[in-house]
Amino acid sequence: MTEPARRYGASPERLGLPVVAAERRRTSRPPRHLADLDPAGRRAAVAELGERDFRASQLATHYFGRFERDPAAMTDLPEAARARLAAALLPTLLTAVREQSCDGGATRKALWRLHDGALVESVLMRYPDRTTVCVSSQAGCGMACPFCATGQAGLTRSLSTAEIVDQVVWFAGAAARSGDRLSHVVFMGMGEPLANYARVVEAVRRLTVPPPDGLGLSQRHITVSTAGLVPAMHRLAGEGLPVTLALSLHAPDDELRDELVPVNQRWPVAEVLDAAWAYAARTGRRVSIEYAMIRNVNDQPWRADLLGRLLAGRLAHVNLIPLNPTPGSRWDASPKPVEREFVRRLRIAGVPTTVRDTRGREIDGACGQLAASEVA
Ligand code: SF4
Repeated sequence: MTEPARRYGASPERLGLPVVAAERRRTSRPPRHLADLDPAGRRAAVAELGERDFRASQLATHYFGRFERDPAAMTDLPEAARARLAAALLPTLLTAVREQSCDGGATRKALWRLHDGALVESVLMRYPDRTTVCVSSQAGCGMACPFCATGQAGLTRSLSTAEIVDQVVWFAGAAARSGDRLSHVVFMGMGEPLANYARVVEAVRRLTVPPPDGLGLSQRHITVSTAGLVPAMHRLAGEGLPVTLALSLHAPDDELRDELVPVNQRWPVAEVLDAAWAYAARTGRRVSIEYAMIRNVNDQPWRADLLGRLLAGRLAHVNLIPLNPTPGSRWDASPKPVEREFVRRLRIAGVPTTVRDTRGREIDGACGQLAASEVA
């Protein structure tokens, strides 16, 4: 193990085999839910209950189309079967522990307790042209990025497909009740989405398949982030799902990225960028390069120039993220003039660059902070 890995507790197992680690820690499976199943699986599940197979589609219409979970409101189902069908296929997966809002209600964050007590969070952000929900794919995270609250707590377990989908459906319902329509989903909450590959890809399918089988969101309105799990990036490129890939780069050189994103010790900058360009070539989608601006750590002008050289001429866009410092952390956000100079240099290199808005700061909006404060 290299020195940065030792310092941040990133064991080879965590770096290389996060899924295996997650499975080993799991104590009990989440209850089976309609959103775990494809339409054929749902029909089989209702048949097991002695019901006609079209009941599966009726249940899915309630869940995905009307955001309805209360069996009493499902009046198109026989009264005698409602509670039984709902108990078998719509069990409660997420229990709200805390909800907070800010920006005049435009940002809402929820902390959920899962069936086994694990905590995850999701955030709804309303913009003039879109309504986005940011979801968690794991409880905790095994990637051990030292500046990240979630990374400090380690991985508890990966979420099931339905536990991921239910975060979106819950907020889609909340948006609909206030006359809004959920349009975008970003997998940028707790966890490394590609370390929970199969369930995340299934969740994307549920979110994008048309109603009543799914939520019917545009694949192009889904963003999946990764710290750089190269084999999974290549695999995702071949799924036929043209979602946006967001690569959390945070440093353009291996020396610093080995420390900031320890998985870099396994797949270094050149390899991870090659995988990003392969993804862009295969899907035609511009890759979003995520770069948290950390004071005196990765914000030097020479690093902006190096990043510019690496990205110039590529199908890429840089999203600079002002770091949201966690209480007691030694990591701090870059001063605004430093951030502006970084942006200027990237743009001179011809790299489209934006600075992410800092929605939700007053409500511990950085990834993992709400769960961290609940645990503390
Ligand atoms: S920054 Fe992302 S990948 Fe890194 S520890 Fe935090 S949640 Fe995991």
